[in-house]
Amino acid sequence: MRISVGHLYPDYLNIYADRGNIAVLASRAAWRGHELEVRAIGSGDSIGDHDLYYVGGGQDREQALIAVELAAQGPALLEAAAGGAAMLAVCGGYQLLGRGYRDRLGAELPGVGLFDLHTVAGERRMIGDVLLECELTPGERRTLAGFENHAGRTMLGPAAEPLGRVVAGFGNDGASGYEGCRAGRAIGTYLHGPLLPRNPWLADWLLEQALSHSLGEPQRLGPLPDELEQQAHAIAGARARSRGGSRSRR
Ligand code: GLN
Repeated sequence: MRISVGHLYPDYLNIYADRGNIAVLASRAAWRGHELEVRAIGSGDSIGDHDLYYVGGGQDREQALIAVELAAQGPALLEAAAGGAAMLAVCGGYQLLGRGYRDRLGAELPGVGLFDLHTVAGERRMIGDVLLECELTPGERRTLAGFENHAGRTMLGPAAEPLGRVVAGFGNDGASGYEGCRAGRAIGTYLHGPLLPRNPWLADWLLEQALSHSLGEPQRLGPLPDELEQQAHAIAGARARSRGGSRSRR
C-alpha cells in the first residue's frame, strides 16, 4: 500500500531532529511492504489530501514566521481530520494546532483550532526527560518516553482529551499531571527525541490510522522485532524516572 504523508512546514518546524519521526514511519511501513510517500507542504501550498499529516517543533521565531499561514489552512486541516486523516504534531507544531500560542514576547500567534487548548509561554523553560502512561486503544495501556524543552504552558479546554498521564516530567503545563492532546486520529505532544524511534508502538498506531484512512476500514499491523527500540525506550524511561516524578513549575 502507498501511505501518503503531508509534512507541514519542514523547513521551519524541525527542531531537535523531529524529522527523524518521518524516517521511522517510512522504515516501519517498508518493513511491512508498504510505501510512505512524503510531500512537503510549505508557503503557498494547499494541504492536499493525505492519510497522515506531520508537523514538528520550532522556536518562537520560526513559529511566528508561519503561524498565520498555517492557521489559514485551518478549515482544510479540520476537514481532513474529520475525514479520518491521522495527525502527529510535536511541541511548536502541537501548540499551533490548538487555538493559539502567546509567545515569549507576548505576541498572540493564531492556531488551527484542531485541539481545544491554548498555550502561553512562561518565564522558565520546562526541560528534561519525560515518561507518560497512555491508553490510545481501550485496554492497551502503554508508556511513552521522550524529551521536552518548551516555554509554553498548554491548558486543555473542556473538550480536550490528554494524550497521557505524566509519570515523570513536566507535561503540558507543569501542574495538571497530563501531557499532550488526542482528538480521534490526531495526536499532539511535547515529546521530542525524536519521539518515534524509542516508542515503536506509537509509530505503528499512527501507520494503522493512516492505513485505515486509506482503505476505509480499521487496519492492524503485525509486530516487528523491536529489541533495539524497546531498549531505547527502557533507557529513556529509566532516565525520566531517575529525575523524579511529575515535576511542577508554574
Ligand atoms: N517555541 C515553543 C516553546 O518554547 C515550542 C518549542 C519547541 O518546539 N521545542 O514552548
